[in-house]
Amino acid sequence: MTDHLIIGSGIAALRAAVALAGAGDVLMLTKAEPREGNTGYAQGGIAAAIGRDDSPSRHLADTLAAGDGLCDERAVAVLVAEGPRYVRELLAWGAAFDRGADGQPSLAIEGAHSVRRVLHAHDATGREIGRTLWTRVAPLRNVLVHPHARAVGLIVEGDRCAGARYVAEDGLVTSARANRTLLATGGAGQVYRETTNPPVATGDGIAIAYRAGAAVADLEFVQFHPTALNMPGQPRFLLSEALRGEGARLVNGAGDAFMARYDPVGDLAPRDRVSRAIAREAERTGAPVFLTLDRLDPAFVHARFPLISEACRRAGLDLARDLIPIGPAAHYVMGGVVTDLDGRTTLPGLYAAGEVACTGVHGANRLASNSLLEGLVFGARAGAAMRADAARDGWAFDATSASAMETAGESEREGRGRAAGTAGEALHADAVRDLMWQLVGLFRDARGLRDAIAQLEPLWRATCARLQDEAAPLDADGWRTASLVAVGRLIARAALRREESRGAHYRLDFPERDDVAWKRRIMEGRHGG
Ligand SMILES: Cc1cc2nc3c(=O)[nH]c(=O)nc-3n(C[C@H](O)[C@H](O)[C@H](O)COP(=O)(O)OP(=O)(O)OC[C@H]3O[C@@H](n4cnc5c(N)ncnc54)[C@H](O)[C@@H]3O)c2cc1C
Repeated sequence: MTDHLIIGSGIAALRAAVALAGAGDVLMLTKAEPREGNTGYAQGGIAAAIGRDDSPSRHLADTLAAGDGLCDERAVAVLVAEGPRYVRELLAWGAAFDRGADGQPSLAIEGAHSVRRVLHAHDATGREIGRTLWTRVAPLRNVLVHPHARAVGLIVEGDRCAGARYVAEDGLVTSARANRTLLATGGAGQVYRETTNPPVATGDGIAIAYRAGAAVADLEFVQFHPTALNMPGQPRFLLSEALRGEGARLVNGAGDAFMARYDPVGDLAPRDRVSRAIAREAERTGAPVFLTLDRLDPAFVHARFPLISEACRRAGLDLARDLIPIGPAAHYVMGGVVTDLDGRTTLPGLYAAGEVACTGVHGANRLASNSLLEGLVFGARAGAAMRADAARDGWAFDATSASAMETAGESEREGRGRAAGTAGEALHADAVRDLMWQLVGLFRDARGLRDAIAQLEPLWRATCARLQDEAAPLDADGWRTASLVAVGRLIARAALRREESRGAHYRLDFPERDDVAWKRRIMEGRHGG
């Protein structure tokens, strides 16, 4: 039995772990290598109102505008008011953000921000934040990190979460019992065939929380990033919006800058609008769409964007000189497991923070560079709440508990034997990802969504039956497919219900925003009613 179980090891998990320093034993389970996850891939930066011409209220206004009428304003107020404090804390802990000649962090501008407010470490901001947070977590004697441990279900006793079941490297299903459990499992981009997200981002946290009865919400809102590298056989490497912030332009095959024809804001319009414009322009011209940095100084381009330059070089392209073929790809899921302002979910004992959570800060569309900030602020708040709830529940605080450290990894082996799956499950995963891209992607309509749901429902029922069958436990592919099916089905169902277009959710058959009928959020899950 552990005091606190944290599932995941990205920005939200790490900041929560810092908040739990010395607060009983903490077991951190993570599915792959500890640094694998969306945080390590984040490029452009982290937004915070620290500039002289900026203020939390201005950041709030930009976030609400991007969220297209569906943000939870209380959650946004917390994000923007506390953001500067937590970002300054990172600076104090040694985060090497880029600085200007005056020694202050240099601030970039990205789409839909009204001022420069994005701190960055070249184009590898997430990696630098992860490095900084690990320097705080690694020395903590009460935190035990267990890599290659995939959480596959929650233990629910009575009406309370009492830990999680996970599959360790040996393939055995194991129980980690805990007084409090934090889901910090990140995103679900892998639900789509085209995605900027790494392989671990399969929405496991949403799937296991939903199966345990916690409420989920806003899952119809999936952000498609407009500019992922679009070359056959190459991963959909993200070409950060910061490129356009610095002056890169979108052009068609004939070299024409086309964005102004689709959107008065042009190249830096919100991501969903740019993504749809790119798809339409590609369809209109029957040719790919490109990003060009031809008006920028090549030396500046390579120095400012070393990671992206290198990815382009590996694909045989010069970022500064060549036309870079791009296309939209699933990037970020605005919805997730419903939480209050302190990470508490609707299932007692279960908390969630970061991309897996749905605090309501993003509404129908996320403002660029607000997600690292969300992980930082709400990760810290969830950790603090777990600590405070533990104290209130009568749990004895013991800052120097060596025994807690030793027992952190103790868990009860269920000994169900080695997991086994079928090749068919791996096939299902690809089929689901294709189906989601084609029918539940950038452009949606009732016919396509019904078709998608008709295909996903039997897979969902088969998965649920399979999870009950203890004689034939799943292998890694099987668990992956189970998450993709569960999350894909939830996205498709919510997308069918929302008969309007808003933020990142675009219905061809309901192209207008409809505040009268739909200025409300869609929730699913027993505890959500
Ligand atoms: C290419 C790219 C660029 C981005 N750029 C930016 C940016 O510039 N600014 C910005 O604000 N945001 C950006 N984002 C989004 C941002 O990176 C993420 O939203 C944020 O890092 C999520 O942090 P997290 O802690 O919630 O999850 P993650 O960092 O994804 O961590 C999740 C962790 O959970 C683990 N995990 C998953 N499932 C399980 C399981 N079943 N059992 C155990 N462990 C599990 C994973 O292995 C991982 O360690 C970007 C995302 C991508 C993909």
